[in-house]
Amino acid sequence: MGTPLHGVSASPGIVIGTAQLLRWEVPEVPVRVIADEEVPSELARLHAAIAAAVERLQLCKARAEQNAGPAEAAIFDVQVAVLGDEALTGGIEALIRQNLGAEKAVELVFLEWRERFTRSTNPLMRERAGDLVDIEIRLLSILLGLPDGDPVAAGPDGDTILITHDLTPSLTVQLDRSSIRGIATDAGTRTSHVAILARSLGIPAVVGLIDATSRVQTGDRVILDATNGELVLRPTAETVARFADRARQEAAVRSELAAMTTAEAVTTDGVRITLRANVDLPDEVERLTTTGAEGVGLMRTEFLVVGRTAMPTEDEQVAAYRAVLEAFPGQPVVIRTYDVGGDKLPVGGFPHEPNPFLGWRAIRMCLDEPDLFSVQLRALLRAAVHGDVRIMLPLVVGVDEVRQTRSLLREAAAELMRCGVAHRADVPLGIMVETPAAALTAASFADEVDFFSIGTNDLVQYTLAVDRGNAALVTRFTPLHPAVLRLIEGTVRDAAAVSRDCSVCGEMASQPLMAYALLGLGVRTLSVSAAAIPVVKRLIRGVSLGAAGAAARAALQAATAQEAERLLRDALADELGAGVTDGLLGLS
Ligand code: PEP
Ligand code: MG
Repeated sequence: MGTPLHGVSASPGIVIGTAQLLRWEVPEVPVRVIADEEVPSELARLHAAIAAAVERLQLCKARAEQNAGPAEAAIFDVQVAVLGDEALTGGIEALIRQNLGAEKAVELVFLEWRERFTRSTNPLMRERAGDLVDIEIRLLSILLGLPDGDPVAAGPDGDTILITHDLTPSLTVQLDRSSIRGIATDAGTRTSHVAILARSLGIPAVVGLIDATSRVQTGDRVILDATNGELVLRPTAETVARFADRARQEAAVRSELAAMTTAEAVTTDGVRITLRANVDLPDEVERLTTTGAEGVGLMRTEFLVVGRTAMPTEDEQVAAYRAVLEAFPGQPVVIRTYDVGGDKLPVGGFPHEPNPFLGWRAIRMCLDEPDLFSVQLRALLRAAVHGDVRIMLPLVVGVDEVRQTRSLLREAAAELMRCGVAHRADVPLGIMVETPAAALTAASFADEVDFFSIGTNDLVQYTLAVDRGNAALVTRFTPLHPAVLRLIEGTVRDAAAVSRDCSVCGEMASQPLMAYALLGLGVRTLSVSAAAIPVVKRLIRGVSLGAAGAAARAALQAATAQEAERLLRDALADELGAGVTDGLLGLS
């Protein structure tokens, strides 16, 4: 049947296509010593390679402009400028004149420059360090005559399945999304940001395949079964037919579920659940308005700063927020302030940290950089004139962080008032509960916040001490662990006691079995990815809160995540029947 590789489903769907291997790593460079008389021709070879690299960058820029917009495409102008820097090219030429082959000369000079940039105290210099890697890969690939691993070269025939080690923001902006049918990566997990991005784009994706890039060749026929997290290499005709059949069945179930768009999210015992959407990229919004989502429960704003060359202006931000608000007139749109750090690096990069997920990220970075944060807060207050904005803070661990933000918000409102700029000063402020600290002390936030939203991706990571992005730990990332369930249950109870809304916007809400557990734990508002809305609505309409509550209470007392999962699955099968349960769980 062809060899299946096993990974993790990041964005469901089954696609059959042609593999396009995208290697974006600094290649191995052999040492080569040249004779004196070869120096002129080696210098000419270097300059020809630089010219070819510049030409490719122009193409990349045009492609990125089309796919991601001019702000994202500006990164390629920076790279062209670096290749024109005489200090850099002069350094390479000097080594060639000392009889070193051009490739080794390039490698040594880039190594020195990267070291220098990474250690710089200037954030703009640190940012250039990432660009230097991209430029070095491009230049060395040309000099070494390696196959063009550039995403621009992805097949035009529309059946490309991209196989790559990891998807970085700079690769993502170059992708021609219209020609890519599926994505498979060695690295990543369901909650890593590559996976979240793939779900937002609606592209089937399997992550965490560990060594797919060394098992697949460009041009291989492959089947990406992103529903089950598998990549089947070089399948037989019979296997292709079997998967094509499954893909058709899955499409049929999905089109049946599409009827859910207009249905109400009401449980069989008559309780209305609010189902909102998560927005990760601005170009998703149009698609979201057709899903029946009741507003936006989490708008991530990192797209404004990750993989860009400059921070967005206040006006640019207002426009981005306003576009979402106008797509959901009269409905709440919860906009999260910058959650950069960890695996999401902003303009200017970050100082190197041994433990980025425990480091200087999210609200910590924002409060330490009030100038940067205040631009975002002003933009949010201005956007609030156009709809029901609610501001949400990520990675909060203490009440003092909310108080500091409130004080910055007051200053932002006062400044807008002074300048006569239209805004609203009464925008609700809430926090993400995504650290055990926030979950255990939720009650003490009562006087400071207007709402809570549980970010289970990070809550699971920090409770179980399991890196959410580490493919090797996937089986240990168990959101149904009783410790996680207890933190959620306690947070929901504390929020209810002080009459504050408490929703869930992490990936747990998008997975039917986990959503069932959340309903049983008392959650009444779920915010999920676009693709999950019909699936989760179908779940809600088939279950009773009475039964979900009993199953969740049993799961809270379970000894292990596996036992909790079994209890919940059995209870769900009792409600929906085994066939529907398997079908629904298979689609998540
Ligand atoms: C979460 O942590 O659950 C969450 C929704 O935020 P993010 O995935 O962006 O960290
Ligand atoms: Mg989070």
